[in-house]
Amino acid sequence: MGKYIMALDEGTTSARCIIYDKDGTEVSVRQREFKQYYPHDGWVEQDAMEIWSTQMAVAQGALLQANLTYRDIEAIGITNQRETTIVWDRETGEPVGPAIVWQCRRTADYAKQLQDEGYEAMIREKTGLIIDAYFSATKLRWILEHVPGLRARAERGEVLFGTVETWLIWKMTGGRTHKTDYSNAARTMMFNIRTLDWDEELLALFDIPRAMLPKPVPCSYHFGETIPELFGGGIPITGAAGDQQAALFGEACFNKGQVKSTYGTGNFLLLNTGEEPVFSSSGLLTTIAWGLDGKVSYALEGSAFVCGAAVQWLRDEMKLLTNSSESEAVARSVDSSDGVTVVPALTGLGAPYWNPAARGAILGIKRSTSRAHVVRATLESLAFQNEDLLAAMEKDLGRKITELKVDGGACKNDLLMQFQADISDVRLIRHHSIESTSLGAAYFAGLTTGYYHSTEDIIANKSVDRVFEPGITEEERAVRLDAWHKAVRAVNYLTEI
Ligand code: ADP
Repeated sequence: MGKYIMALDEGTTSARCIIYDKDGTEVSVRQREFKQYYPHDGWVEQDAMEIWSTQMAVAQGALLQANLTYRDIEAIGITNQRETTIVWDRETGEPVGPAIVWQCRRTADYAKQLQDEGYEAMIREKTGLIIDAYFSATKLRWILEHVPGLRARAERGEVLFGTVETWLIWKMTGGRTHKTDYSNAARTMMFNIRTLDWDEELLALFDIPRAMLPKPVPCSYHFGETIPELFGGGIPITGAAGDQQAALFGEACFNKGQVKSTYGTGNFLLLNTGEEPVFSSSGLLTTIAWGLDGKVSYALEGSAFVCGAAVQWLRDEMKLLTNSSESEAVARSVDSSDGVTVVPALTGLGAPYWNPAARGAILGIKRSTSRAHVVRATLESLAFQNEDLLAAMEKDLGRKITELKVDGGACKNDLLMQFQADISDVRLIRHHSIESTSLGAAYFAGLTTGYYHSTEDIIANKSVDRVFEPGITEEERAVRLDAWHKAVRAVNYLTEI
């Protein structure tokens, strides 16, 4: 048995490799950025070959850096930016064009047309998703329509589709494995999250040939072995999951009712809803959390477009901070936000408001308002956004959420974490390792091979950095939430058509 697990974390802007020992300690980390292409307004592309070469370079670099060989590695787990769409030639292994990135809006008109034609309910019921250009199906359809002769080749199985984990696994196994995992498949808008298969009706609607699609399998699964050219010998690939689901797993939210919040550039909240999908009445997405041990777990997902990005805005545009972490000390220099409320709708409001036209606001300023009040109110606004998502999740789940696990860059901010615990009336838990996305991939891989015997084995490994207990009264909480909701109403009112 190898002593370590290799996690490949293929993100939106960079590829990383972290090698973990059994305790979840990082023994080697390598990261490298790759290029983004913006050929037209709203279009975002990447070069699939560059994704591949960058990911292999960091993996090989991480091994070398720690003085390890392939024999030291028990298995590889992969986690990735979701929805990004790649089509390649089965013979040559060359992509037929650029990867269309999840952020790309080129198919927004087609998505709107689908909504207008009344497909919303059917698509939601099968996939758990709202119709949006974000998901892979409309992107894949666009590629099939714009590359001459491609659909006929796809029907003959000469070209293949994959999200990023599928592409990497196919390349790493020398073209032997063409598979996706359920959590990634669930973000394509053509996968039926109940039958766990590509949906015939949706494939017909989008005109996508089944022959080009990968086989969907659980996240903990023996995908194949790497070709020896890559690491000097074969390493089994035994785990794959989309980034947010991997983070949920990495935070050890194994049970129904457990939630994690990732405070990155944006904020992603995922709630494990157990073995049955829960459909939201507040516009949250229903998705597959993972497939493991012959069972499938589902999740509700809500996101705020802006989280750490609001702190970056204070730093870069408002020049109120010299760096992001300074926000905590500046906020602490005052006792409260003194009646100031910030609505950080810099790029619209997501769930549960869904107002893309909304723009941000700073309310309640007076003669004595200082930069510290504005900084503090901005940090508080990030917690308020999360509280709205948590409240929506509680409503859909039908029970109170009492505990929240956190990760992402801004979770290092103790003031923000305490305020979140206060305003959401939850016990908030921050683990020592907040790289939960990579950890989740490593856990999936390790569970497949028996490196970890069970999820209890993993829980025993996790060490808590700090717990934040709620510490304000119900009245105080109600007053603050009321002010926040009034501010959101004001922002929504300004963009009413
Ligand atoms: P991503 O993975 O989305 O790039 P990260 O998880 O690396 O993001 O988090 C970076 C974000 O967190 C940045 O937007 C940054 O402004 C914010 N951030 C980092 N440290 C702090 C802090 N101590 N307080 C508040 N925000 C922070």
